[in-house]
Amino acid sequence: MIKDIIQQQRSFFKTQQTKDVSFRKKALKRLRQEIVTREEDICDALFADFKKPRFETLAAETQFVLAELKHVLKNIDEWARPERVDSSWMNWPSSDFIYKEPYGSVLIIAPWNYPFQLAIAPLIGAIAAGNTAVVKPSEVTPHTAAIVSEIINAVFDPCHVTVVEGGVEVSQQLLAEKWDAIFFTGSSTVGQIVYESAAKHLTPVTLELGGKNPCIVDETASIALAAKRIVWGKFLNAGQTCIATDYILVHENVKDKLIKALEQSITKCYGENVEASPDFARIVNQKHFTRLKEMLDGEEILFGGKHNVADNFLAPTLVNEPKLDSKIMAGEIFGPILPIISYKTFEDIEQYIGNYEKPLATYVFSTNKKFQKRIITTFSFGGGAINDTVIQITNKRLPFGGVGQSGIGAYHGKESFDVFSHQKAIIKKANWFDAPLRYPPYNLSMKIVKKIKHLF
Ligand code: NAD
Repeated sequence: MIKDIIQQQRSFFKTQQTKDVSFRKKALKRLRQEIVTREEDICDALFADFKKPRFETLAAETQFVLAELKHVLKNIDEWARPERVDSSWMNWPSSDFIYKEPYGSVLIIAPWNYPFQLAIAPLIGAIAAGNTAVVKPSEVTPHTAAIVSEIINAVFDPCHVTVVEGGVEVSQQLLAEKWDAIFFTGSSTVGQIVYESAAKHLTPVTLELGGKNPCIVDETASIALAAKRIVWGKFLNAGQTCIATDYILVHENVKDKLIKALEQSITKCYGENVEASPDFARIVNQKHFTRLKEMLDGEEILFGGKHNVADNFLAPTLVNEPKLDSKIMAGEIFGPILPIISYKTFEDIEQYIGNYEKPLATYVFSTNKKFQKRIITTFSFGGGAINDTVIQITNKRLPFGGVGQSGIGAYHGKESFDVFSHQKAIIKKANWFDAPLRYPPYNLSMKIVKKIKHLF
């Protein structure tokens, strides 16, 4: 069945229909209309999967992709046009271009944490760039996988875009096939599997992975505001956000003040009884709930810690100074647990962050410009923010992606178009003049070449 789908998509790609930008625009507009029509159903699906608050679905899933669609539709003509570049004088007279060529048949594999956005946003780039696509949503959020499937089936001919639902086995079957590009969002562990599968066919890959994202708060930070912004970015989606703060490194002089402000912010957002708040999501399933719950064993809980296994509920939880070799600090937390670790010197920060691979995000709260710059330039990470968290994802003009273990490649806006395109270099040579320099015999050319410092 998978082989048939790929065969059909390859045949369709060969008809050249996807090369027509107006075909792509029509497809994107149909997708936009269907998302608008089904927005309530999408909210219901995400609520059914892990009680995602409606506002968070609107802001981070549906409206997010609708904004991406708007941006792409506005700019696609310009992005798709061959880009003229300066010619080199030795080719004179010529005009030189970069043609944006779709790769062909692409595979998109999505995770469960933003299960609508992370299936549809890459798809927008794939369609805009003129590819056919197979989307595999996450099996962990079945209601959203079903609606992604319904929407795509309603909008596209399966020769152009289709969905293959299923779990790890289906994903492995898909990866065993030859694709022209693969776009994967998920864990670094599975990212490696995807990369290995792609290597067999030398398929280009984009890997959007995770990491352990530090948030550094120095003595000069505006503490109340920092706490508010950290709490928002951390407990959105119940901490199941790839760019959420994983742990806080706070200067020891302001640690107590920050903890108090974090506690106040959590209560202000979610009330005294977080479980009753309609604005706080659940852990996606019992496996992840247990994983998170076990992280708290033996730790000093400063705030929160309440849980309810029947509902996969885990309250926003602050943990004091967990050890480096604890379960919490071993890998990405990916849940509503926030470790708070104090530092004295910049060297302490360097040493601590140095324990981990390059993360997807890093945040710094400080009013000291030198300190801000030092954090941003000393460490390598996907992207981040100064005096805020998570918001770097909201600007379509900023590339979104990791580095090292947190990923390969980036997308959003024009980057999404480019990541699904091959850049084909073309020189259009004029016939009315043909410089003799390059042709043998080289005697005369040698003399000229020696005098010319820059040949190209
Ligand atoms: P995951 O890697 O377990 O699964 C992602 C996808 O891969 C799913 O569709 C799944 O079916 C498939 N898959 C799982 N195991 C597989 C295997 N052995 N072989 C082939 N395919 C397999 O990730 P997840 O748990 O769904 O998502 C959480 C992770 O994703 C976190 O690490 C998070 O940081 C990361 N993430 C990154 C971004 C980003 O944009 N960089 C966004 C969201 C999530």
